[in-house]
Amino acid sequence: MNKEEVLTKQTSQTLQGFDDNDIGDDHLFTGLETPMKADAFKLSDQEKKERIAILFEEIMDVMGLDLTDDSLKGTPKRVAKMYIDEIFSGLNPQNKPKIALFDNKYQYNQMLVEKNITFYSNCEHHFVPIIGKAHVAYISSGKVIGLSKLNRIVQYFAKRPQVQERLTNQIAEELKAILKTDDVAVIIDAKHLCVSSRGIKDESSATVTTFYGGQFNTPEKIAELQNYLKD
Ligand SMILES: [Zn+2]
Repeated sequence: MNKEEVLTKQTSQTLQGFDDNDIGDDHLFTGLETPMKADAFKLSDQEKKERIAILFEEIMDVMGLDLTDDSLKGTPKRVAKMYIDEIFSGLNPQNKPKIALFDNKYQYNQMLVEKNITFYSNCEHHFVPIIGKAHVAYISSGKVIGLSKLNRIVQYFAKRPQVQERLTNQIAEELKAILKTDDVAVIIDAKHLCVSSRGIKDESSATVTTFYGGQFNTPEKIAELQNYLKD
């Protein structure tokens, strides 16, 4: 088997016999980590922006758009800057929020729930928005985290090409690592524009994904948490 055949075989194994088109509309994913190349950070952010601007200009040109039009000529650079500095900034570990922990001085030992964290992400199969709310909860193992940091962790992982299941698990694993406890929960309720604005065009459906770790993985804790999330 040559290298390409090996790669194809590995890919079809991880995709379980589905082809890329099937995968795209069904939003399966292949692992916890965002698939990145080994040399993902060989180029500086500035170099990436310059490359993306050239390539995006080509996409627009191929589609027949007139790049000399005043309204369009700045678009390739705007898109490149937006990709690197904003909507995909969470691909770069340097942008990961720095988290300070505090001692749990109040000895608060019940669940803490931070709910309705609005986030904007993008579907990695279509590069169109995923818009949703994340609810995160934890039970302190002795340390507590600033509430705004819970929000920042959600935003960091949202700013990647994503699938909702992976976003849920990446947030949960990060919280577990930072808070040094398995007792974390993450619930995400989101709308996928690739479902509502194209493809099957269902405007009313939403996707809910959950992670219940440690003490949260009991019917009582799940019921308690769900109760707090009722509006
Ligand atoms: Zn999609």
